[in-house]
Order: sequence, then structure tokens, then C-alpha cells
Amino acid sequence: MDGSYKEKDRLTGILTREYFDASAKEIIDDNPDIDFTIIEIDINRLNVINELYGVSEGDNVLKYMGSTLEEVFESVPFSIYARLQADLFVILCPDDNIKIGTYIEEIEQKFKEYSRILNIDILLSFGVYECIERGVALQILRDRAKLALKTVKGNYIQHVNYYDSSMYDRMAGEQEIVLNMNSALKNREFEVYFQPKHSLDDDRIIGAEALVRWISPDRGMISPGVFIPIFEENGFIMKLDQYVWEETCSFIHEQMEAGVNIMPVSVNISRINIYNPELVDIFSHLVTKYNIPSEMLELEFTESAYVDNPQLMLQIMEQLHALGFKIEMDDFGAGYSSLNMLKDVPVDVLKIDLNFLSKTSHPDKAFTIMSSVIRMAKWLGINSIVEGVETEEQIEFLKSIGATSVQGYFYSKPIPAGDFVEYIKKYDVRTVNAKKEELHSSIKVLEINQVWDMIKSTRSEEFPIFDTFGLYEYHDKHVELVRVPDSYFKVLRTDREKQYKITDSIEDNIFPEDVELLHDMFEKASTGHHMSQGIFRRKTDDGLMYLYAKVRLLGINSTGNSKMFYMGMIDMSDTIRRLGLEN
Ligand code: C2E
Ligand code: CA
Ligand code: CA
Repeated sequence: MDGSYKEKDRLTGILTREYFDASAKEIIDDNPDIDFTIIEIDINRLNVINELYGVSEGDNVLKYMGSTLEEVFESVPFSIYARLQADLFVILCPDDNIKIGTYIEEIEQKFKEYSRILNIDILLSFGVYECIERGVALQILRDRAKLALKTVKGNYIQHVNYYDSSMYDRMAGEQEIVLNMNSALKNREFEVYFQPKHSLDDDRIIGAEALVRWISPDRGMISPGVFIPIFEENGFIMKLDQYVWEETCSFIHEQMEAGVNIMPVSVNISRINIYNPELVDIFSHLVTKYNIPSEMLELEFTESAYVDNPQLMLQIMEQLHALGFKIEMDDFGAGYSSLNMLKDVPVDVLKIDLNFLSKTSHPDKAFTIMSSVIRMAKWLGINSIVEGVETEEQIEFLKSIGATSVQGYFYSKPIPAGDFVEYIKKYDVRTVNAKKEELHSSIKVLEINQVWDMIKSTRSEEFPIFDTFGLYEYHDKHVELVRVPDSYFKVLRTDREKQYKITDSIEDNIFPEDVELLHDMFEKASTGHHMSQGIFRRKTDDGLMYLYAKVRLLGINSTGNSKMFYMGMIDMSDTIRRLGLEN
């Protein structure tokens, strides 16, 4: 060794990278009969430990790795290990599949004990390059181990991976992705798909998640699992996320315009976007630009983003929450955070992934944990949604533990916008059919008069402020009066005969310029989710009267071809005239 570099790493006391490369080369060259393996180890999220417990605690973790490697490899002949940089370590040792598994287990075991003492979780990832190629520079050999490491870094389930040459094909694939990403965005090759979320109580669609797809003219559909990690690494995700958010807002806007019964849609926010100082502005700008209520856009942050930087996340979440956005905590349970933090952060929904849970080594335990998470979230007033639900059995299980909403292949895969609109309509019809059946059955057992009485009494109790009300049918831009109480004629200054004789459609009584407004009110109310309201003018013998009205869907009429509505009315004529507001 020529002394131009340090032999020992000052902090951990084990070898430095330069010394390792030189010595490892010597060992390999001197032992042509032995096959060697290179292992790289990464301590995940050391920065979190530094931040939460101080740099000296972070240093202790690194020192602990140094002494662990010493202990494990002290008695292994032809082995050598070093700290490469920051939280990255390397080992060279003779190739022996079984023994290598044991070394890794020993290291993990030591860190488990250490985690217990410190009461923090330390996650290690291992990249193993077995039977290294001879005559290749050490740096390249290490890079291969590192390539294997990168495939499992940050993965809570799989900690170890082995290098194989196909990883290079993947790397070439990665390069192609990076090369094409900008033009793909420009050419609109990224498409937003939607996956419905359903209520477990009544099957209803309660929303959707926007998930991006890359539909490449050359390569077909590329899954986000392939390109998102790359874009997170090179920062392109900032652009792509914004594109997805904008497309989603534009979709919501279009559907609202078209009168489709649109529900809130959630978008994913990559962890690196939380460092974007304009994040909050971007969202408030988007809902203004597309004129949509902010509660229509739900924001999914991953739990691990929260763990990375709790202060910053808390600040962002609070700002977004104040603007009316709903916050979802994605992949809840996969990170380090405790349920305890939920009482401090403004989270509206916890998303729990069933697939993640069932892949753990103790699925039974995982399910018990899930049911307590759901229960505890309820106590805190937080909703939860379980995703990755594929089977009837899972649905039954989730119902049994009190879960209320789900997302998964059981209902639908993520689908293109057009298909999603069809899907909503299909489900709308199902709900309406169910309602129709309800109404049918009630009509069967009750006299029509009794139904009327029932409506009359419940409605007047519900809307005591109305001067009068009526039961209407509406279909194809045509409002028909079905039944009214006596007060109707008095308030509207007409009588039964006039009302039914002179006109056969109520539109004839409405001031012509207001007919469209009236239709609009019925149209809006026909989704069944909102009451609509407005002021319209009605023709009377002696001029015009101003009516304030609220419309609400009651159900489907017995023939099933038009919808039945309740409309409550207040005569505003005097008030409006007094205020000089008539036009
Ligand atoms: P995620 O946010 O956890 O999304 C849920 C993933 O689970 C989706 O994968 C979805 O297709 C899949 N999934 C849904 N139901 C089932 C099921 O029943 N069984 C199984 N096995 N899987 C199901 P997808 O679309 O491939 O997306 C993967 C990940 O990529 C997402 O995980 C998310 O982290 C990321 N991603 C997707 N779109 C975006 C985006 O626009 N921005 C960002 N930042 N990330 C995105
Ligand atoms: Ca998500
Ligand atoms: Ca998720």
C-alpha cells in the first residue's frame, strides 16, 4: 500500500473505500481458486435518525455497523470489509451461498437488538454479487452489488437481492425511459387512469384515485412501478405529478359541467414534491383555474414522506387542509410512524394496503393490527380505506372488522377516464334501480294517497319554512305537476281548475327566460346527492311573482321512466320589490 490515502475510516475504525479496493484486489488476485462474493449494505434513512435523535446517535449507528462487521467477519478467512461513504458499507468474502445467508441474518439480528434498545427501527438493505467476475475493476464489481442493492433499498418486505446480468438490461431500460420522458410528456403519452373507491355499506362509488400510465407508441403500456422510482430519483416526478393533477382537475371540471355525478378524486403526491415551496399554491391555483370545490380533490401523501420530514409535512398538510383539501395518508402502516402521530396531523383518511399486509411474515398478526388501526382511526374521527381488495372473502373479512370503504380489483382495476364515466353511470343506474324497487314495494303495500300523506308530513316537517310545495315529475326537460296540497293554489294565486285546464305543463306558467333555470334545478337535483335551489319568476293574472325554490329528488315513479321530485317554494315577491331587486 502506498500511503497516499487513509487506511482507516475515522468514525467507524474500519477500512476506507480506497484501502478496500486495493486490498480486495490483492486478495482476489492471490487466490485464483476461490470464488468471491461482494455484499453492499445500506442503512436506510440515517438522516431521519440524525434528525430525530441527533447526529451523535446517527454516528453511533454507523459505529455499531463497524463493530458488527468486525464481529461477524473477524473469523472468516479471506474476507475484508469497509465503509464506502456515509451509510454505505461493503464486504468481500469467499462465495458460499449458505454462509452468506447466515452472515446477513447475523447482521440483521444484531441490528434488531440495537433497534430494540434505541426504540427506533433501523432498516438495512443488502445487495449481493455472487461469484464475481475476475479481471474486472473493483469499482465495477461494487457497482454490480450496488445495482442489486438499489432494487431493494427502502423496501420493508425484501431486504436482500442478488445481482444478475438482467439487471443491466433493466438499467438500459431505465436509460431509455429517462431519454424519452420529456418528449412523452409533450406528446401526451402519459394518461390518467381512475380506480373507483366503494362504500362497503351499500356498494356506492364514493370516489376514485387517479393513477398515471405511460402509453408509449413503441413499448406499449409501461407501469408506474417501472418509471415512478426513476422519476423520483431524477426529479422529473415534479413535472409528471403536476401534469396528473391538472388532468385530474380538468376531468372533474368536465364531468361537473356534463352533469355526471362526479365524486372526489384523489391524486398522488410524490415524496419529493413536499420540498416544492410552491406546492400549496399549485393546488389552490388549480382548483381556481378549473372552478372546482377543493373537497373534490383529495391529496395522497405517503406515510414515509411524513416520516422523512414530519415538521415540513405537518406544515404543508395544515395549509392544504385550511384550503379545504382532504388529506389521505397513503400506504399507512408501511412506514415507521405510530398511530400516535395521527392526533397531531390533519389527516382525513388512512389508506391501508391489503397486499402489503398479507405479504408480511405474520399475516394473522397483520390482520389483527389492521382491525385495531381501523378502530382506533374511528375513535380519532379519521376514515380509513383499504386498498388492494381482490376477493369476496377479503370483503367479508373487512366488513367483519368494521372497515367502511375499499378500493381494488374486486370492483375495478384503474380504467381510462371514458370507461370510468361509463362505470359511474352504470353504478348510478344500479343505485337508482334499487331506489325504484324500494319505491315500488312501498307503493305496493300502501295506497297512493298514503304515500302522498307520508311525503306531505315528512316534507313539511323537514322544510317548515316553505310557503308551499309540490310533487313533480321530470324527464327530458319537461316538468310535470303530479300532486300539490291546497296551500299551493293559495300561495301561487291560482286555483285547481285553472292550473290543470289552462296549461298542461308548468313551464307555461314560468316567465320564459327562467325556464332554463328551472330545468337546471331539476337536472342538478336528479343526481340525488344535493338539493338545488334558485329564484324564478312565475306568471300570474296580475303580473309576475318571485319564487324561491328548493328541489330534491324523491325517487323514480312507478312506471320507472321519470324521476319524482319535491319542490318547496317561498313567495319572495314582496321582499324583492321592497329591496328594488326586480328585473
Ligand atoms: P399506490 O398509490 O399505492 O396505488 C395503488 C396501486 O395498487 C396501483 O398500482 C393500483 O393499480 C394497485 N392496485 C389497486 N387495486 C389492486 C388490487 O386489488 N390488487 C393489486 N395487486 N393491486 C391493486 P399502480 O397504478 O401500478 O401504481 C403503483 C404506484 O405508483 C402507486 O401506488 C403510486 O405510488 C405510484 N403512482 C401511480 N400514479 C402516480 C402519480 O400520478 N404520481 C405519483 N407520484 N405516483 C404515482
Ligand atoms: Ca396512492
Ligand atoms: Ca397505496
